[in-house]
Amino acid sequence: MRNRLRTHAEFAPIFTLTDDETAALRSPQRTFSTGITPYYASLLDRDNPDCALRKTMIPTMAETVIDPHDMVDPLAEDEHAPVPGIVHRYPDRVLFLANDVCPVYCRYCTRSRIVGGNAPFSVARARWQKGIDYIAGNPGIHDVLISGGDPLILSDDRLEWLISRLHKIPHLDFIRLGTKVPVVLPQRITPALTQMLAKYHPFYLSVHVTHPRELTAESARACAALADAGIPLASQTVLLRGINDNVETMRELMRGLLRVRIRPYYLLQCDPITGSSHLRTSLRSGLDIIRGLRGHVSGYAIPHYIVDLPGGGGKIALTPEHINGYEDGAWLATNSHGVSGFRYPDPEGLPLYP
Ligand code: SF4
Repeated sequence: MRNRLRTHAEFAPIFTLTDDETAALRSPQRTFSTGITPYYASLLDRDNPDCALRKTMIPTMAETVIDPHDMVDPLAEDEHAPVPGIVHRYPDRVLFLANDVCPVYCRYCTRSRIVGGNAPFSVARARWQKGIDYIAGNPGIHDVLISGGDPLILSDDRLEWLISRLHKIPHLDFIRLGTKVPVVLPQRITPALTQMLAKYHPFYLSVHVTHPRELTAESARACAALADAGIPLASQTVLLRGINDNVETMRELMRGLLRVRIRPYYLLQCDPITGSSHLRTSLRSGLDIIRGLRGHVSGYAIPHYIVDLPGGGGKIALTPEHINGYEDGAWLATNSHGVSGFRYPDPEGLPLYP
């Protein structure tokens, strides 16, 4: 963490920077932090600005373009914060924003409004206690997702302080934690960490993975250590223009995730965060990818394609249409390979989408 690359002076000796990247790294207009761990920097192409991972980490001046649809807080998280650091958008679960620091800063981060700081832990702990009290006082909450920032960069002791207190709340069914650490700082997944986490089952991990290039021997070892500790791993992947928005890359990624014991879970439409319009795709592009997965790879390798509705509407799943009509007591369907004329008998024929 101490050796992260953050400034133009730190990037310039390692990467052949374009004029645009240089201008962005030096630009006062750009407000979102930059940073990458030395390990993750080693996965980026030094010379090719079209490298997929490089485009997710090294800023360009496109970030300074504000699209009319861009928003600072597209998911309206701040409006749904009953106490600082808790987002309560769904009745049965909350998001617990534990910290605001990450090992890397993704150019499309939905929480770019809050990550990149460095609040002293004493401040965080006072805030955490208010969050724990809020959850303890609301028996309708059954699931907590600890996120940030990236909570896995907290020390084992600090993390255990938080998780152990949440674990004691009787109405919580399980605890989840969202992280990108296994693929950007896999050295952080130590035996001491996995042994500590294993004390608090049922404990789940959502791993943020963008591209098959992140699935290295080191990240596979980190994931195996977590899985061996009994922690179920599920993926979250943001769909990004020019980075992973094609069927071949997604097939390779989803199959690769299963190989490193991560179950593909969410393919997320990029949120309309300020300065990210150059990275966003159409919804059609996401549905085309799901079409290109279903029927071509194992069902285990197919994530839900999710749009988190701007304005705080919550997540919806988009799926390709397969039903084409109803005729003589049966639904007419087209399969995943585009072959039509299949019939599913259903004498009731009730509307599928009331
Ligand atoms: S790791 Fe997550 S929270 Fe951190 S910058 Fe990337 S998307 Fe944002």
